Amino acid sequence: MADCLFCKIANGDIPTEFVYEDDEIVAFKDINPQAPVHILLIPREHIESADDISKENSYLIGRIFEVANKVAKEHNLEQGYRIVNNCKEHGGQTVNHIHFHLLAGRHMLWPPG
Ligand code: 5GP
Ligand code: ZN
Repeated sequence: MADCLFCKIANGDIPTEFVYEDDEIVAFKDINPQAPVHILLIPREHIESADDISKENSYLIGRIFEVANKVAKEHNLEQGYRIVNNCKEHGGQTVNHIHFHLLAGRHMLWPPG
């Protein structure tokens, strides 16, 4: 999508250092980290939100979790981490290209605000 921030990051229009990349998934540090480790994982394909996951594209979500635990191992996150997806307005989604936050390096709070 021409106008999408995360499409531009994924396709290199906005130069970004990737923590991980392959032909389907990219991961990069969040610009405004909420934890000592805060990495965003996205599919290269433009999927707007979790509400747009379908039988055809859902394999990409499995791939994101596979990449997340690979990245977690590389960051020595044996003590654990949290993966968050904010979906649409009430979910707190601000970038309309599906992404998963990998948060770690401190105890997370529950319930979320
Ligand atoms: P959301 O609120 O949609 O779940 O998460 C969007 C995330 O994208 C936020 O945590 C925000 O800090 C991050 N973000 C917004 N713009 C940029 C950017 O240009 N580069 C990076 N690396 N992260 C961004
Ligand atoms: Zn996009």
